Amino acid sequence: MEVKTIGVVGAGQMGNGIAQVAAAAGLDVIMNDIKDEFVQRGLKTVESSLSRLVKKDKLTPEQAGQILARIKPSLSLEDMAAADFVVEAATENVQLKLDIFRKLDAVCPAGVILASNTSSISITKIAGATKRPESIIGMHFMNPVPLMQLVEVIRGLATSDACHALTVELSKKMGKTPVPANDYPGFIANRVLLPMINEAIYCVMEGVGQPGDVDQVMKLGMNHPMGPLALADLIGLDTCLAILNVLHEGLGDSKYRPCPLLKKYVDQGWLGRKTGRGFYQY
Ligand code: NAD
Repeated sequence: MEVKTIGVVGAGQMGNGIAQVAAAAGLDVIMNDIKDEFVQRGLKTVESSLSRLVKKDKLTPEQAGQILARIKPSLSLEDMAAADFVVEAATENVQLKLDIFRKLDAVCPAGVILASNTSSISITKIAGATKRPESIIGMHFMNPVPLMQLVEVIRGLATSDACHALTVELSKKMGKTPVPANDYPGFIANRVLLPMINEAIYCVMEGVGQPGDVDQVMKLGMNHPMGPLALADLIGLDTCLAILNVLHEGLGDSKYRPCPLLKKYVDQGWLGRKTGRGFYQY
């Protein structure tokens, strides 16, 4: 089956990035969020990302205009009835995602694949909320989506080979490199990344180092392009906390307990770049 129209649920930093790369690959996109201002903000982000590519001579202004025009705003999940593949990229919250998948399952024609960009939540659990577990899959893009190569493709217990093959094909069509992972909390990327970020936050809390020093050590000493605290601010501290909670509850090991300082920042609403303040000020 050829995917021509893709639905994206959530127009936040991941959703609008997924919409952009899908539209750039020639797909029609339906980009959904709960409020018009969120969809408009998503479209604005795509517009500025495309104009940066025009400035770098990677796109002509006409191509940028055509890509943007392929993204249609939506405020109702009912609109997903017109999509032949859906990627959900809403807030990292289990109940919210289960509810979205229940609705998508009711709205989308049989056989349409419903993928989740979740960072950590069980694909099998999401599939359990639907009557099409064979067509539920994890399609985990990295942030920022237009720049990062990887898509982790995660099979739930009942995901079919056909569903996996189509998701791999679509990832490639969107210019990405798919890598398979199995359905355990955090999959591969965040199972490895988040304990490091959490430990970096413990270093700040215990006074081992200032955020800038912790990041410098990891950049200069380990050749990381970006320090763990700057990366946490980019991911979003609420998302980091949600992922750590899933790792902690799902794997039952105290080594994944979220650092109290991370919880404090989230309680304060210091969520990183998206709110202008996290471990750094923006
Ligand atoms: P974000 O906060 O930037 O955006 C989330 C968007 O979802 C918001 O615009 C919100 O209004 C919308 N939303 C909430 N409920 C909704 C609903 N019922 N229907 C439609 N939209 C709804 O978050 P994000 O960073 O884009 O993360 C989205 C997903 O992508 C999460 O599952 C996250 O774990 C995952 N993810 C994030 C990163 C990252 O680095 N931030 C990387 C990979 C995957």
